[in-house]
Amino acid sequence: MSDVIQLLPDAVANQIAAGEVVQRPASAVKELIENAIDAGADKIRVLVKDGGKSLIQVIDNGCGMSVTDARLCFERHATSKIRKAEDLFAIRSMGFRGEALASIAAIAHVELKTRRVEDELGSRLEIAGSDVIKQEPEGLPAGTSIAIKNLFYNIPARRNFLKSNPVEMRHIVDEFQRLALAHPRIFFTLHSDDNELFHLPGESLKQRIVHIFGNSYNQRLVPVEEETTIINLKGFIGKPEYAKKTRGEQFFFVNSRFIKDPYLNHAVVKAYEDILPPDSFPLYVLFIEIDPAKIDINVHPTKTEIKYEDERAIYAIIQSAVKRSLGRYNITPTLDFNQETGFSQMISPKPLEEITPPTVTFNPEFNPFDNGRSGGGRQPSPIPQNWDTLYQITQKKEMPSQLGLHGEEEDLQAEPPQTGKKQPFQLHNRYIVSQIHSGFVLIDQQAAHERILFEQFCQQLENRQGASQQSLFPQTVTLNAADFQLISDLLPDIRALGFQIREFGRDTFVVEGIPADLTSGMSERQVLEQLLEDYKNNQAALKLPKREKLARSLARHAAIKPGTALSTDDMAELIDRLFACEMPNVSLSGKPVILTFTLQELSERFERY
Ligand code: ADP
Ligand code: MG
Repeated sequence: MSDVIQLLPDAVANQIAAGEVVQRPASAVKELIENAIDAGADKIRVLVKDGGKSLIQVIDNGCGMSVTDARLCFERHATSKIRKAEDLFAIRSMGFRGEALASIAAIAHVELKTRRVEDELGSRLEIAGSDVIKQEPEGLPAGTSIAIKNLFYNIPARRNFLKSNPVEMRHIVDEFQRLALAHPRIFFTLHSDDNELFHLPGESLKQRIVHIFGNSYNQRLVPVEEETTIINLKGFIGKPEYAKKTRGEQFFFVNSRFIKDPYLNHAVVKAYEDILPPDSFPLYVLFIEIDPAKIDINVHPTKTEIKYEDERAIYAIIQSAVKRSLGRYNITPTLDFNQETGFSQMISPKPLEEITPPTVTFNPEFNPFDNGRSGGGRQPSPIPQNWDTLYQITQKKEMPSQLGLHGEEEDLQAEPPQTGKKQPFQLHNRYIVSQIHSGFVLIDQQAAHERILFEQFCQQLENRQGASQQSLFPQTVTLNAADFQLISDLLPDIRALGFQIREFGRDTFVVEGIPADLTSGMSERQVLEQLLEDYKNNQAALKLPKREKLARSLARHAAIKPGTALSTDDMAELIDRLFACEMPNVSLSGKPVILTFTLQELSERFERY
């Protein structure tokens, strides 16, 4: 038998490698921005069209490339960043594998324009499918511009696999935000189809966080700083009461490189133990500086995983530093108060760091998490008391009466209460008790209201006509670019729910009316923000149709909460509307809404057989 092994042509090898480095437009954006950062740029502009499918362009004012380098940079394993294997253990640059440009050139049309400051003329190159089609000298500004057109044009299977433009754009925004957070001193802009989504002047980390996530974050951040022989840690964490239902705002950077690390994430979350509302995720933007010799970044081509020599020690350092910052924040309410009223800081020309904070004394040893020890100072609790742990009487498993609600067939047979005869009443402002012929029912008021509103909103979305209540004072809501995009996509449905809302300049909506059924007393802005937050949360957790997710989110937020006192009329109406629902017995999360207690069961409980 003859030999069968052949070396693949370079273009094919590059296409295969490209699959690893460039999974979607966002990966190309990341690689190009990293190159610009490595080139020492302090100004980086990113232009994107059609979610990156037709154009990704990154323009920097970095060191530029010589004529030869401009041609060489598209070769595989061509890199200026490492020269020998040992260099792999001293990596300070973002790139080092020399794979990105070669991979990109294999799967797109690329135009490179670059000039070094010291050269009179720059070079312009056109490349398609790894072939240089054109190279010519040209008068250019110093720095580099790389435009990637028609990503995956020669791999239709990959191109078809791409998601819709808004989804791809969201991934791009994610990568952009990570890099912009990691390098706050660099000026960044991001344009999508001629809209400027981000305009971030060089600034401090705190200003950058606020710039990206919104002005309200100014008062949500607590600084973290710790210097040890193993690592230096610095950055910001979010106050526990602002923790969100989604993980979106958690960032670890190791030597300025964004990484995903469940183990270190756990260290942070552990530090919040007991002071975080259930199922919520605190914000953090933390930077670990570590000797590059002690880590291995070369685990995966996308470089978002790292191996550490000293994992356990790093875990302990992070956990204790975060705890200490939280402890400090907890016992220095005056400091926070001053920060909150200091809104003018945002428009002050002085960088935030230069503003001397009010002097507050605190005991740095105080540990509010150490329950066994009575530390100094009071212990404010930023978290509302948890209702569920206070009133568990009706939830106890051993109650024989908690039956009838395991299967849906049974559910649907629940006997509607005769509200006309005996008046319903409330227990702990949380449950409604109503007499029925064979005993009584106990209704979870929040779950019931959620069910009612959910079915109502679904109907409205179907008919495209939600009742709206006009706002006396229309509010503008400014969102980060990703959220703005999301709301834009959902606009027709949001309007069908009863929101009167329109775009109002960059990243901003004006809300002139909200659905008529919102009783929660939240402001227009809060309603919209919460809707969005919950929608995103549902999006991760559930595979539901878009409209159902919206209806669900809004119902969740609009529904009355435990602790709301209801009049007898309110209760009667709630019960009537509940039993008019298609599925009165099942809550939005599939739990019971109504528990039925029969006289028979009661007799048994009282041992009167
Ligand atoms: P790596 O970044 O891993 O070295 P790349 O394929 O991303 O590999 O880039 C190859 C080389 O091209 C880099 O090492 C660098 O010398 C050069 N290069 C790429 N982008 C730029 C840029 N924006 N400015 C200057 N040089 C660049
Ligand atoms: Mg690179």
